[in-house]
Amino acid sequence: MATRGHIEIAGAGLSGLTAAAALASRGWSVRVHERGRELREIGAGIYLWENALRALEAVGAYDEVAANGERINSPELRDHRHRLLQREWLRDGRLYTIPRRSLHTALVNAARNVGVDIVTSSPVAGASSTGTLELVNGESLTADLVVGADGVHSRVREALGLTSKIVNLHDGCGRHLIPRTAEDPVNVAMEEWSGGRRIGVVPSSPEWTYIFLCCPESDLEGVQQRPFNRDTWLESFPNFRSQLERIPDLPEGRWAAFYDVTTSGWYRGRAAIIGDAAHAMSPNLGQAACIAMANSVALAQALDRYEPATALAVWEQSELPVVRRVQRYSRLYGKVGTRWPARLLDARSALIWSLARAKPVQRRIQFAAGYFPSLDSGPRITIGPAELAARQAG
Ligand SMILES: Cc1cc2nc3c(=O)[nH]c(=O)nc-3n(C[C@H](O)[C@H](O)[C@H](O)COP(=O)(O)OP(=O)(O)OC[C@H]3O[C@@H](n4cnc5c(N)ncnc54)[C@H](O)[C@@H]3O)c2cc1C
Repeated sequence: MATRGHIEIAGAGLSGLTAAAALASRGWSVRVHERGRELREIGAGIYLWENALRALEAVGAYDEVAANGERINSPELRDHRHRLLQREWLRDGRLYTIPRRSLHTALVNAARNVGVDIVTSSPVAGASSTGTLELVNGESLTADLVVGADGVHSRVREALGLTSKIVNLHDGCGRHLIPRTAEDPVNVAMEEWSGGRRIGVVPSSPEWTYIFLCCPESDLEGVQQRPFNRDTWLESFPNFRSQLERIPDLPEGRWAAFYDVTTSGWYRGRAAIIGDAAHAMSPNLGQAACIAMANSVALAQALDRYEPATALAVWEQSELPVVRRVQRYSRLYGKVGTRWPARLLDARSALIWSLARAKPVQRRIQFAAGYFPSLDSGPRITIGPAELAARQAG
């Protein structure tokens, strides 16, 4: 079959694989370079809101994900006294949780089904705006478009000079998968706050429950995950003794620091960045990967309508403001959850409780879950011709 052209992608994480599957299913020849020796996803579980589920449908991975995940009907938030503050996050749309490995496998399968070539042990050194991907082994690969999906510390983003700021938020999270038992919630994702700590107990498949343990980096006992400092977390969350006792002393899961990445833009010439490379954010709203997957489909849609340089301008103009809003709300959620003064915890509960009842506020904070880009119907190019020409020239 004649292809529409060739695309080289750096990184076989959730973003790179979604983009690869979306592009290849629309007739592009696509090769993905992964620096790791094997294809794998690090981490424990993940929330997939409606926007991600629609992206997974678009790339043919949804059925496998739904079969291996847990449908959540009620995401609950409780306070330091175990009082229910809200269970209304999921107004419209679906929410699934799933072990990351299962999601990654579904995306690898979807990409391969549409002919994507995934090359492992192929580290990328950089890229240029003329559409060249530079490999660490010295090879230069030319394509109609190159895409950097190579994570927070993206070499592609650096080479294109797109980095504005990488901010360590000095918050983070231990994350673990524990064998699921009858003591775990069913179709309910539980999050509880205690002082500056947050725990999540989230059924993610018939076999596994996902646990996340968030706190500021300055909480030296809380950050100890290997060996796991069980006593300090039991003190904060006695109601979750059963789950905390199922985390092994030397768990596989490890500490993940949160970063915000901001950029001057998402492309230069014929080279673009997606996912954490373009907009890493704190995971407080469970949106960083979801919105990256939706954006990946949006990129493929834009390339259906325009030649690459124009498509990138349209795509960035349409999606970048959406992502910046999600980053802002996620940062705010993190500040309220982990930086609130200890003597005012009851006031925090009262505030969250009342906000939870204000539908417009809920909708605003969670807007990304219900947002799915539709470049098929064609946004207008409002960027001026001089600026467009400059960006196209790289
Ligand atoms: C604790 C925690 C919980 C989270 N929970 C959620 C959630 O519930 N929902 C949600 O939507 N998001 C969540 N996120 C965010 C989500 O994990 C990330 O946004 C997502 O994994 C980013 O995927 P990515 O493919 O863009 O980048 P990455 O996952 O970083 O993948 C990049 C890939 O590129 C490869 N690579 C890197 N450099 C090179 C190179 N030079 N050459 C070749 N390959 C390279 C890497 O090996 C990797 O495979 C969470 C994050 C954290 C830390």
